[in-house]
Amino acid sequence: MAPPRTSSDPDEAAAQTRENSRVRVLLPLALPGALDYRSTGAAPAPGTFVRVPLGARERIGVVWDDVPDGAPPPPEKLKTIIDVIDAPPMAAVTRRFVDWVANYTVSAPGAVLKMAMSVPAALEPQAAIPAFAAAAGWQPPEGFRMTPRREQVLHLLAEGPPRTAADIRAETGVSAQVIAGLADAGALVRTGLAPPARFAVPDADRPGPTLTADQKAAAADLCAAIAAESYATIVLDGVTGSGKTEVYFEAIAEALRHGRQALVLLPEIALSAQWLERFEARFGVAPAAWHSELSTAVRRDTWRAVADGSARVVVGARSALFLPFHKLGLIVVDEEHDGSYKQDEGVAYNARDMAVLRGHLGAIPVVLASATPSLETVANVEWGRYRRVHLPDRIGAAELPEITLVDLRATPPARGRWLAPPLDAALAETLAAGEQALLFLNRRGYAPLTLCRGCGHRLECPNCSAWLVEHRASHRLVCHHCGYGLGLPPNCANCGAEGAWAACGPGVERVAEEVARYYPDARLRIMASDTLTGPAAIRELVAAVTEHRVDVLVGTQVIAKGHHFPLLTLVGVIDADLGLTGGDLRAAERTHQLLTQVAGRAGRAERPGKVLLQTFMPEHPVMAALARGAREEFLGTEMRERERAHMPPYGRLAAVIVSGPDMREVDATARALGRVRPTDEGLTILGPAPAALSLLRGRHRRRFLVKAPRGFNLQGAVRGWLAEVRPGKGVRVQVDVDPMSFL
Ligand code: ADP
Ligand code: ZN
Repeated sequence: MAPPRTSSDPDEAAAQTRENSRVRVLLPLALPGALDYRSTGAAPAPGTFVRVPLGARERIGVVWDDVPDGAPPPPEKLKTIIDVIDAPPMAAVTRRFVDWVANYTVSAPGAVLKMAMSVPAALEPQAAIPAFAAAAGWQPPEGFRMTPRREQVLHLLAEGPPRTAADIRAETGVSAQVIAGLADAGALVRTGLAPPARFAVPDADRPGPTLTADQKAAAADLCAAIAAESYATIVLDGVTGSGKTEVYFEAIAEALRHGRQALVLLPEIALSAQWLERFEARFGVAPAAWHSELSTAVRRDTWRAVADGSARVVVGARSALFLPFHKLGLIVVDEEHDGSYKQDEGVAYNARDMAVLRGHLGAIPVVLASATPSLETVANVEWGRYRRVHLPDRIGAAELPEITLVDLRATPPARGRWLAPPLDAALAETLAAGEQALLFLNRRGYAPLTLCRGCGHRLECPNCSAWLVEHRASHRLVCHHCGYGLGLPPNCANCGAEGAWAACGPGVERVAEEVARYYPDARLRIMASDTLTGPAAIRELVAAVTEHRVDVLVGTQVIAKGHHFPLLTLVGVIDADLGLTGGDLRAAERTHQLLTQVAGRAGRAERPGKVLLQTFMPEHPVMAALARGAREEFLGTEMRERERAHMPPYGRLAAVIVSGPDMREVDATARALGRVRPTDEGLTILGPAPAALSLLRGRHRRRFLVKAPRGFNLQGAVRGWLAEVRPGKGVRVQVDVDPMSFL
């Protein structure tokens, strides 16, 4: 990586006039904007990383190109830039992206910049690998004895590039002393080598599977968009198992052929072992991965390789969007509807939407892939903003599985069991046929609630308004919001009763316990985020299922995403109503998506699949639509309801959350905000009200919900409103534009 230190002006005169001038520097901190500094030499160009003083400390920031309001302070009043960092400058498109994201999310630009500078180590000088080169024009001095070994080394280095001592020894067989002797005599000079590239170049032209006619047409459409080198958002809408991945692999290949980088966002990248295998099979090498579990060294090398363009394809979690791409040519957002693309803490952004923004700013195509596109995306297709490419059928002989509702009122499970007779019978049949079954329950642990049989006292988290979830395997009760945990106490703190705890309701551990009891010969595994610790554990489990060393999988939503197990023919959903109870805006939509996804794991190869959904509400529109395979009908109904209620995508929402450790301070700030709420025509502000999670990680929480029509400048109104109130002591006011969570 040998970038220019700064893009210094070639025109000397122009550089002279900018000398001793004012420079705007954005720091990766939640300050209102960029700060003014003075440059003693020629002003570094926008994008240059610089070290500046801030208070008593030094900070690294980026020379920004924003135009501040008001008259500039005279340069002599300003602090001076300490030095310029030897790293490639932040590209103009990345700087604009930072500004746009900050603007959209009502965040401080520096807080967004922090996400784009997440690897400080990548800005430090890179240690070179010590090596030797032949000294130019060297003549043997008086008394130098040329031995055959010495000659061999000189010959090797005269022919080729510098080498490390280890390489020289390996290639010539000489000892370390021979090399040292030559260096002492001045025949060799010490030099440094750049570290080898971490990422091999994917081979775009390795043959993939022969695409079906539908796949070919879809791939051609995406490839045309890549070749056009302009912005477009294309929705790749295809049923589960329709071969969407292979289609967007073609788009990646096309981007590579155009000398560009590609970014693929996946939900739960750490769980995506199968995806990585398929990528390697198609392109011959692994892509660069980006997620929170990478070591510092890997993060640093990856960040640099993305910046210098040597990492050609990056697959990552939402944060990968903020990597410093050298020449990005394509963004794919797989499972675009997935909730994990939304970051709720800090800068609240939806990576799917920000990917579209990034595509716009970079003039590149964005592909949104899903079997169950979000209503927002469906609406954008309807309004002509996005283009839809459709894959209606599964690949090969595979058919979509048949979905049956199990009415828990008509056929309840036997006492103490969770599988109702129809599901129990289907499981027995599946196992007898030597096939595999997946039992899905979106709840980790053993039981979601533990109460005292003596007095009804419930075990709750002291930091959150939430129940503690029993995890029997680890003998603990755990809060799923803050991680607080304790062992099961012997006595009830309320009535003193001993050993009177009752576990209420099932989690995956409890369902697994039932399967183990009634099917003792079945080889059983649990798949949940807390039982699978790290990518290696996932790979092992996926291999075990693929090689049929597992008969029954009991899992949470981590199993729902993308896995392909040919022998898996039965999917049983223990509690299909689970996601409908919260009553939030997207409850029905999300349940439909999740259950479609889970159902999509069944019958992906030759053997047909069967799905049983256990529900107390078989007449609910979501259940009815799933049973009839009537996705369009469901979307239509849901869309009309949203339109009638002026809810997204037909209206705009923002949540404002006021939180802090002291309830009185929180309430005072919330009331102050309530008093000065804007009264613009069309704008509705509900609240303040206690949030559904009114206590979270020890912070009391109050919420406002801001509602506005489409096209309303929601961000502007919120920004102006919040600027009027100074939060109380320890109180934080957070904005969540387009909220997904209503807790
Ligand atoms: P989706 O992402 O739409 O759920 P996948 O891309 O995972 O579908 O494809 C489903 C399965 O079909 C995978 O095992 C994949 O390898 C296989 N597949 C996809 N396209 C083809 C094809 N053209 N020929 C043969 N197998 C294919
Ligand atoms: Zn908690």
